[in-house]
Amino acid sequence: MEKIKVGVLGATGMVGQQYISLLAHHPWFEVAYVAASPNSAGKKYCEAVAGRWQMMFDVPAGVRELTVQDANNPALADKKCVFVFSALDMDKQQARELENAYAAMGIPVVSNASAHRGTDDVPMLIPEINHEHIAIISAQKSKRGWQKGFIAVKPNCSLQSYMTPVFALLQAGYAIKRMIITTMQAVSGAGYPGVPSLDMIDNIVPFIGGEEEKSEVEPHKILGKIADGLIVNDESIRISAHCNRVPVVDGHTACVSLEFGDKKPELEEVRRIWRDFKALPQQLNLPSAPVQPIIYREEPNRPQPRKDRDADKGMAVSIGRLRKCNVFDIRFVGLSHNTVRGAAGGGILNAELLKAKGYFD
Ligand code: NAP
Repeated sequence: MEKIKVGVLGATGMVGQQYISLLAHHPWFEVAYVAASPNSAGKKYCEAVAGRWQMMFDVPAGVRELTVQDANNPALADKKCVFVFSALDMDKQQARELENAYAAMGIPVVSNASAHRGTDDVPMLIPEINHEHIAIISAQKSKRGWQKGFIAVKPNCSLQSYMTPVFALLQAGYAIKRMIITTMQAVSGAGYPGVPSLDMIDNIVPFIGGEEEKSEVEPHKILGKIADGLIVNDESIRISAHCNRVPVVDGHTACVSLEFGDKKPELEEVRRIWRDFKALPQQLNLPSAPVQPIIYREEPNRPQPRKDRDADKGMAVSIGRLRKCNVFDIRFVGLSHNTVRGAAGGGILNAELLKAKGYFD
């Protein structure tokens, strides 16, 4: 099968580098176009990331010599790639307009940026949870007069640590009334160079700008339903979030307490639901889909970022410490790799779902 040529916007950043690494041996997609800020534009990719390449392996051979283009000029991507992954870190309004411009040109955008997460005709996907939201794309295209282009996004990186286990319980018929989340988020979540080392070493920073608001709002859209060409949020879970930056390189951890409605599962039933959970990405056997989307760790001191973030290619969510909560009903700890499942790997899984459903034909 001939591979689909893809572009990466923001290819030089933390998430962009993860895209370049994960796509190096992808069976369906091949990186043919890289773009970033005007500072990197004109340089060979390997020169643009020299001294700030953060991945475990060297820059893949197929990308080393590509010339980085200015992501602000969508016309440069014309005919170079079928669709782009967007990992741009820029002003929200600017990013929104830029992603619109790519889509208007006929280049679909699979984005990690927060710019379009609140846009009600843009699907915000975790394919194990709300793959049916891709149906909104036809309304999005016709409303905006876009022929081939469209925009699909993924949610904030920390949500991946707990939303799939929460959804598995909802799907099993256990309504949730309230949820309190306390996240411990890795430094790579702040991009490169990110938080100054003097703020991070031997320290915890109990503030990540905008993160608590995203954690409290984005689940409502993910759990929403399509009605009249829009995604209507489901606000039935009240959410309170505390988000902290901790001195961990990769892997966001979340301590979660849940209050159910009248029907409350036993702990053994919760474990069974998580262990048995499979969804469309597993049924379709998408290349990046984890075999087991939720891995329950029985050890009393797991999950841990260093030991569990890479579970199943960094795409599985590791869960542990399920126990009764003295205030709500249950509590547990969730963990996922923020730049893989929470960013580039999640974006690639979204693209695989879109490809499998014919959206790039
Ligand atoms: P980053 O390391 O700071 O990288 C930012 C990228 O955007 C670089 O390629 C940079 O190019 C480019 N860029 C910055 N300003 C630009 C401009 N004015 N015009 C064109 N390109 C510009 O950030 P990151 O952590 O990779 O995050 C990228 C996006 O993913 C953000 O929207 C972030 O919120 C989201 N995200 C991040 C994570 C994570 O774990 N890090 C998780 C989920 C989502 P230069 O190198 O040329 O400056």
